[in-house]
Amino acid sequence: MSNNAPQRWLKVVTGAFQYSLPALKLVWQTDRRLLLWLGFCTLLAGLLPAGIAYTGKILVDAVVQAMNSGAAADQQQALRYVLLEGVLVMLQLAAQKGINACQALLRVQLGHQVNVIILEKALQMSLPQFEDAEFYDRLTRARREASTRPLSLINRLFSFFQNSLSLLTYCGLLLAFSPWAVAILALAALPAFIAETRFSGDAFRLFRWRAPEAREQNYLEMLIAREDYTKEVQLYQLGPVFLKRYQDIFQKVFGEDRALTKKRNFWGFVLGALSTLALYGAYFWTVMAALAKRLSLGEMTMYLAVFRQGQMAFASLLNSMGGMYEDNLYLSTLYEFLEQPVPVYGGSVHTGSQPGDGIRFEQVSFCYPGASKPALEDFSLHIQPGYKLALVGENGSGKTTLIKLLTRLYEPSSGRILLDGTELKDWDIEVLRRRVGVIFQDFVRYQMQVGENIGAGDAEAFHDQQRWERAGEKGMVTSFLDRLPEGYHTQLGRWFKEGQELSGGQWQRIALARAFMREQADIVILDEPTAAMDPEAEAQIFDRFREITRNQIAIVISHRFSTVRMADQIVVLEQGHILEQGSHDELLAQDGTYARLFQIQAQGYQ
Ligand code: ADP
Repeated sequence: MSNNAPQRWLKVVTGAFQYSLPALKLVWQTDRRLLLWLGFCTLLAGLLPAGIAYTGKILVDAVVQAMNSGAAADQQQALRYVLLEGVLVMLQLAAQKGINACQALLRVQLGHQVNVIILEKALQMSLPQFEDAEFYDRLTRARREASTRPLSLINRLFSFFQNSLSLLTYCGLLLAFSPWAVAILALAALPAFIAETRFSGDAFRLFRWRAPEAREQNYLEMLIAREDYTKEVQLYQLGPVFLKRYQDIFQKVFGEDRALTKKRNFWGFVLGALSTLALYGAYFWTVMAALAKRLSLGEMTMYLAVFRQGQMAFASLLNSMGGMYEDNLYLSTLYEFLEQPVPVYGGSVHTGSQPGDGIRFEQVSFCYPGASKPALEDFSLHIQPGYKLALVGENGSGKTTLIKLLTRLYEPSSGRILLDGTELKDWDIEVLRRRVGVIFQDFVRYQMQVGENIGAGDAEAFHDQQRWERAGEKGMVTSFLDRLPEGYHTQLGRWFKEGQELSGGQWQRIALARAFMREQADIVILDEPTAAMDPEAEAQIFDRFREITRNQIAIVISHRFSTVRMADQIVVLEQGHILEQGSHDELLAQDGTYARLFQIQAQGYQ
């Protein structure tokens, strides 16, 4: 095996207890009464076996004495011991069942608790972190195993104490026979421990390596089995391709597992056989001692039982320790995730230094992590309150990036963005977020009710039907609402019972209504809000758009010039730079890129 074995064992022994305290704390917070009961039952279950073995000894000795003397009193004494042993065994059974019940009750609660902790943490993370593959792997790992591991660790920790107690009391009994007997008991269990520690580290390393594969498998499962992907997967006949890839990943992973399982069990057998040999040596010795009359029949019975059970207790003690080591390794992934730094939004400003100044971009540049070229470079712009701004530019020119910077999903690499004279990073993030209503192109289609889909625009009014109706009216949801069986209470999407599916344009109206839900926001940002709508709906919405957003800054990204032309100011972006800016008429007069693009689209409609 390995030449640095002592170090490895030391690592296992210390590693086995590393997260025991945090795990205990977690259980204590989850349900302290259950934890106390578990402790009590474990104590009983640890002490009783030695008591039972000792009662067995005095019982046999009493029977032998009664047989020799024939006295009625001796016979009664022997029968009383039978009764005593029966009571102890019954107690043992009760303690074991108590442990099982506590574990079962804890399992559900603890699993839930850990999941909540993970989700709460995920809520605090920032968008760039979610886009980082390594972060995502950590999250996957934490979610996959960590919810079952704390309980497993606790179970093993208690089993460790139970077996330690049993062993201590067994050793007390055995010492009367010979200290060597205690030594044999310990030696016989060691091989199992070696096998356990040798392989639990390997299993864990495999698990860690596999986070990316597991993620890919999850993704493929989603592609094949989710309703929003089925359409394309079926029509392009991609199913078999994806399934094949899914199976290939399994084969690779399984191959590694198989090798480890074989190795683990082979060594388990070899080392287990050594234990058994040692144990039967001890049996042999005990029987010889009894034959030589150095032990009474009762003592021999007790020692045999103690040897057998003691060896088992020792083996399961070491097993618990190996298992605890493994649990700790898995738990380390949970704590690694929980210890990830959370982005701190340090700002505390509630009103800007120049109220009414609007938004200013000052030489803002931004480069995505790992990207070689900036997505936005040296961008400067002033947007006054109430202004309507349209952003135009080909795909990848930096429009969405601009919005992400303005909403503080990202921080600029250089330059400043100011709102009412104060830099965004100095604003209290909650106040800032309340002032902005934004609908991205890939807005979320919540598999919830129509009203809730609109209400999502303002968490405080999530269930407020009057507000849904007001926003729904502005977003023109009302025009198709009467076709939905339960109006605002119609379930949307296909995931849940009686869900209705909407067309792309209808979903966009709901998204628009969601943006209008944010009544107290003075900045409304719409990323391609009407791309899927028919021209008539679009025209109707934008006829009223200026009126609806009268006091608000509106920033609209659009490829439709019918939408764009109503803006006070139009900014044409190209590769992260401002190419042209001005009103529709000014830009047409400039006869540049904007004018050219406008002509192309206008011709298309002629
Ligand atoms: P637009 O909205 O104008 O289509 P974007 O702002 O989305 O363009 O993208 C600008 C540039 O930044 C593109 O070159 C794109 O490849 C890159 N980009 C966009 N999002 C990311 C991201 N999350 N990570 C890395 N690069 C990105």
